[in-house]
Amino acid sequence: MRTRIIVKFVGVAYGAPMSPRRTTATHVATGHRVTRQRSIVAEALGRERVALSAQELHERIRAKHQRIGLATVYRALETQVTDGTATRLERPGHVYAYAACAPEHHHHLVCGRCQRVEDVAEEVMRPMLRSVREKHDFQVDHAQLDLYGLCTRCRPQA
Ligand SMILES: [Zn+2]
Ligand SMILES: [Zn+2]
Ligand SMILES: [Zn+2]
Repeated sequence: MRTRIIVKFVGVAYGAPMSPRRTTATHVATGHRVTRQRSIVAEALGRERVALSAQELHERIRAKHQRIGLATVYRALETQVTDGTATRLERPGHVYAYAACAPEHHHHLVCGRCQRVEDVAEEVMRPMLRSVREKHDFQVDHAQLDLYGLCTRCRPQA
């Protein structure tokens, strides 16, 4: 996505030719803007107890920050996934959902109905990983291993 920025303090208008000095100023301004937008996205995601798609988070952010576009939200979320402050989860139909997360290695329980995400410690997964290894001589790559199902609130009570 192409982004155009008006840097008011050096008087650059839309489409004005870029002198080297102006280019530098624009880059600085872009950096600040990106940082601010990323922190808006990170805060919005951090408030949620459920996993949200980029589009759903964008809809929530837009009420307060009209100028943040969907592509910006998506990029900010992917950056968080890369630096370990968010996790990327699957939804039916090849849609990604995101949840704020701690960078330490752990797994998730994801409710397919209410989208609630719960962290699972390694010791819960360890017996399963070990028995797959023993019975199948197969080492599971559990860098990205999340369990999808229904939480207690969403399950019909027997
Ligand atoms: Zn997590
Ligand atoms: Zn649920
Ligand atoms: Zn693990």
